[in-house]
Amino acid sequence: MKKPLVNSSDASRGAGLSRLSRVKSRMGKQYRKNRNYDTGAGQHKYVTTLSPWVSLRLLYEQEIINAALSAHKFCDAEKFIQEVFWRTYWKGWLEMRPMVWREFTRQRDAALADFRDDTEYLMAISGNTNIECFNEWVIDLKETGYLHNHARMWFASIWIFTLRLPWVLGADFFLQNLLDGDAASNTLSWRWVAGIQTPGKIYLARAENINKFTDGRHKPVGKLVSKGFAIDDSASFNAEPLQLMNKSLRGRRTLLIVTDNDLGIDTSYKTFGEIVGVVGLDTVQFRSPKGASQNVSNFVTSAVLNTIEEFSKKKSIPARFLSPNNWTLITDFARQLGAETCVALRTPIGPTRDVLGNINTFLKLSRTEFVEHTRIWDQVSWPHATKGYFKFKGVIPKVLSSLEQNL
Ligand SMILES: Cc1cc2nc3c(=O)[nH]c(=O)nc-3n(C[C@H](O)[C@H](O)[C@H](O)COP(=O)(O)OP(=O)(O)OC[C@H]3O[C@@H](n4cnc5c(N)ncnc54)[C@H](O)[C@@H]3O)c2cc1C
Repeated sequence: MKKPLVNSSDASRGAGLSRLSRVKSRMGKQYRKNRNYDTGAGQHKYVTTLSPWVSLRLLYEQEIINAALSAHKFCDAEKFIQEVFWRTYWKGWLEMRPMVWREFTRQRDAALADFRDDTEYLMAISGNTNIECFNEWVIDLKETGYLHNHARMWFASIWIFTLRLPWVLGADFFLQNLLDGDAASNTLSWRWVAGIQTPGKIYLARAENINKFTDGRHKPVGKLVSKGFAIDDSASFNAEPLQLMNKSLRGRRTLLIVTDNDLGIDTSYKTFGEIVGVVGLDTVQFRSPKGASQNVSNFVTSAVLNTIEEFSKKKSIPARFLSPNNWTLITDFARQLGAETCVALRTPIGPTRDVLGNINTFLKLSRTEFVEHTRIWDQVSWPHATKGYFKFKGVIPKVLSSLEQNL
């Protein structure tokens, strides 16, 4: 059994910050040169493996970039900063196209039913194909909760073009098992490999490339297809306008709802009126109809619990842990505390947002106001994610300087 990348004792902002200070030396020239090398589970030394904390927003994009710039010149850290912005870009892109997520969940649910007893699918997710490196990545993913970015690309490509399995099932398998499972980065990266995100441009894994970037550990010669195929997914979705304005909550008694999509309340609560209580909502089991792996659930649930406990102590306010569908807990708690409004950090498109949508409907019916606050980072960055990443990349310096002025 391989060691998980993190465990429940790492599920806090403090643990994320100490990891950040340990890996900031990796964010400069070395990252630019070597980031594509996958040195294997437990051995990653060219990438940061910060994603479990970033995806829960126990670490903020801004502070990771600041850490990079405190240790390296901008020109050396630029590549790393651009990678951090990939996540922001994907989120902004999906936020403007919620139908892409809807369509993914529709296709996924249909495929999960169709492939429930499919031998090829079952062999793939149990790591029993004739492609050794693929089998190893399945085990790494399940046991450690992490795969290097290059391995994710090879994995997705082999899944789609060599094993000829539906990309939506691969994306679902990732969401069940990745500690950093994220609706935008995951769905859109799978679409990108499949040639749907950038129509006509597929990503084909090649044995020589795998051999080179795994330092010779793997050489699947003769095992991978040499040609891909186009996937018929002609649906195109126009970008919808973003609603980014925040409502002022000054002077209001508020009940804070904290979700596993953004546990970074430390830096944001000051704009939330007078917080009289905090509710932690863990939606990890909604990442897939098949739930989330034990590793992932342990980490995420502990992170939610630790966050509300710390916040409750810091602010001397009561905290409750909310199990999904027990929405009356919110209204009862709000009433008990005399809270007029429930507030949450804006949750981007994905499973947590779907759950919050249900809460919103419930609160409306119970005549309780529910307000979401969009972070300044998202407000400033997302509107630029209208086209491809190349264009987005060009505005990063402008976005960073605008964020500095707004902080
Ligand atoms: C098929 C596929 C599925 C993916 N699924 C996810 C997912 O569910 N969740 C997720 O966070 N990332 C996903 N990624 C993106 C990327 O692989 C991970 O963010 C990265 O490997 C995380 O490891 P790290 O923290 O060591 O990254 P580093 O290279 O150290 O980068 C630092 C941070 O920058 C961000 N980042 C870096 N590269 C990317 C990228 N290509 N896309 C988006 N953000 C990036 C992450 O927040 C990361 O923590 C996926 C990529 C592919 C090809």
